[in-house]
Amino acid sequence: MRVPLLDVRRQNLPLEAELSAAFERVLRSGQFILGPEVEQFETAAAAVTGARFGIGVSSGTDAILVALMALGIGPGDEVICPAFTFFATAGCVARVGAAPVFVDSCAECFNLDPAGIERRITPRTKAIIPVHLFGQPADLDDILEVARRHNLAVIEDAAQAFGAEYRGRPVGSIGEFGAVSFFPSKNLGALGDAGLVVTNNPSLAEKARRLRNHGQHPKYMHGVVGGNFRLDALQAALLAVKLPHLPDYTARRQQHASEYTLALAGMAAGAAIAISLPVTHPDRTHIANQYTIRVRRGPAWRHRESPRDALRRRLAERGIASEIYYPVPLHAQECFRQFGPHPGLPVAEEAAGDILSLPVFPELTEEETASVAAEIRQFASEANG
Ligand SMILES: *Cc1c(COP(=O)(O)O)cnc(C)c1O
Repeated sequence: MRVPLLDVRRQNLPLEAELSAAFERVLRSGQFILGPEVEQFETAAAAVTGARFGIGVSSGTDAILVALMALGIGPGDEVICPAFTFFATAGCVARVGAAPVFVDSCAECFNLDPAGIERRITPRTKAIIPVHLFGQPADLDDILEVARRHNLAVIEDAAQAFGAEYRGRPVGSIGEFGAVSFFPSKNLGALGDAGLVVTNNPSLAEKARRLRNHGQHPKYMHGVVGGNFRLDALQAALLAVKLPHLPDYTARRQQHASEYTLALAGMAAGAAIAISLPVTHPDRTHIANQYTIRVRRGPAWRHRESPRDALRRRLAERGIASEIYYPVPLHAQECFRQFGPHPGLPVAEEAAGDILSLPVFPELTEEETASVAAEIRQFASEANG
C-alpha cells in the first residue's frame, strides 16, 4: 500500500469552498498587506497559545528572528539552543550576529536537556531557545529556572507545537516569546509560508510589531532597523478558515500516534535491532506533529547499512514514505563551525543516526497506519530471526 509522508490535498480540498470564499473576499477587498484579516487571525491564533499578543509574520523562521531582534540580541551575544532541531532555531541566532551555543537533548523525548545548560552559560549568554520538538513541550520549568537565575530570556520555538500544553498551560506564552510556524506540514498549515510571534509582554509585543514592518513607527520614521516580515492578508484569511479545525487535526494525529504505539508495542528488542517508540511525559501533551521511532543496532546486525536506513529503504520499496528529522545535528553543520569548537553531544549524534519519522498526518486512514506498522514489525522479525 502506498502511504505518503504528507498529503495536504486531503486536508485542504474538503475546505475548498470556504478557502475559495476567503480568497475572493481578500481579492475583492484589495487589502493584501496587513489590515483586518491579519489582525483577526492574530487575535484568534494568539489565544491558542494563551498569549496576550500575537504578531503575524512571514514564517516560523522569521518569528524566531523577530523575537531575537526585539530582545536586542546581536554581535557578541550567545544564545543556547539544542543541536538536535530544525536548522532555523540556530540559523536565526547566527543571522542576528550572535553565536549559537549547542546543548544536548534528552534521549527519551529528544528535547533540550536542562541539565546541560548551566555549564554552557557565560557572561555573554543572553537567551535560551528550547524547541518543543515533534509536538512535545520541552521541560520548561527547569529551563525557566536556570534562565531566571542567570537573567536570560527564553524564546520558545513552538513551530511544531501549536496547541500543545506543558503542565496545563499552552506553550508559546510561557517564555518571553513564542515562535509558531504555519508551514504546510505543521499541525495548522497555511497554503504557503506563514508564522506568528506571541508574547505576554506589551513592550516586547510593540517592538516585534514594529520590527516586522521595517522598524517603522510612526509612518516613515525608523527608530530601529527591522525588515519585511509581514504575514500576508491572504494567508491570514486562509488560516482563519482552517484554525477552527486545529483541535480535530491534532486529535487525529494523536489517534494515529496511538495506533502506531499499540501496533508496535511489545516488539521484543532482538539481537540485531531494537525499535523504541516515542515517549510522552505525563505532565505535557504531545500534539504528534511527528511520530518518531528509533531503530537501534544490536550486536547481531551484520550489514554495512544502518538498521534505520535499511528499514527506511524497505518501507520505500513498499511505497511507504518516511523521513529523517534530522540527519545532521547542528553542531556538525559546516556553517556553524565558525562558532566552535563544539563539544561532542552524544544524544544528538546518536539520534541523528537512528531516528525515523513515520507518516502521521491527520487524514491518514487506519488501513494506512496499520500497513506501515505491519511492514515495520515484519522487518524487525526478519532482522531478529
Ligand atoms: C518548521 C520549523 C521552523 C521554521 O518554520 P518555517 O515556517 O518553516 O520558517 C523552526 N523551528 C522548527 C523546530 C520547525 O520545525
